[in-house]
Amino acid sequence: MTERRRRVGVMGGTFDPIHHGHLVAAAEVQSWFDLDEVVFVPAGDPWQKSDRGVSPAEHRYLMTVVATASNPRFTVSRVDIDRQGPTYTIDTLRDLRSATPDADLYFITGADALADIFTWRDAEELFALAQFVGCTRPGYTMDEATLASIPADRVTMVEIPALAISSTDCRARTRRGEPVWYLVPDGVVQYIAKHDLYPPDAPAASPPD
Ligand code: ATP
Ligand code: MG
Repeated sequence: MTERRRRVGVMGGTFDPIHHGHLVAAAEVQSWFDLDEVVFVPAGDPWQKSDRGVSPAEHRYLMTVVATASNPRFTVSRVDIDRQGPTYTIDTLRDLRSATPDADLYFITGADALADIFTWRDAEELFALAQFVGCTRPGYTMDEATLASIPADRVTMVEIPALAISSTDCRARTRRGEPVWYLVPDGVVQYIAKHDLYPPDAPAASPPD
């Protein structure tokens, strides 16, 4: 009897901070596809200054480790944060493929990220490297044209329990002094506070008299 090939989920993200939307999506896809492991892959630091400063990679990596520590099927990879330059999904998948050549890869993304797929580099090779799993996300719908242009045998849409949580909102709440308890894991709440990751915005300078 041939052994079943290992199945590895890949959950890429900025994770600034990681929240329960990410964790529920990963857990749901793990169970749906009977994955042996889900690897969380925090993105590298943008090499050019983006619109907003992204927290340093080491903080985002450690929050991801804290958030996933209790799940025996969840692991965290440094491939993207240890690579120079901006993160492209093609590089993530190539690196993970060479690290685990005998595994089938399942790339997990929210509906918003999947909609951008054709702006990603090397879409053809992406589909060859991994099966794609698009998770529903409150506030985002996939338009018919995008769905129709994705190879049906390479993408599966999965409906996950709706959690209208985003990292953007978690950062904004923290800056306003509002709680993020229960939106992110307890250890992540404490990590954010310990390192003061999202301090209140500096008050705008008052206009001259
Ligand atoms: P930001 O607001 O900073 O963009 P985010 O909440 O979108 O953060 P990312 O790190 O950008 O989080 O997302 C990583 C992946 O997780 C993406 O594929 C995204 O679509 C997916 N994702 C994020 N939040 C949810 C959610 N609440 N439900 C389902 N998928 C999600
Ligand atoms: Mg996002």
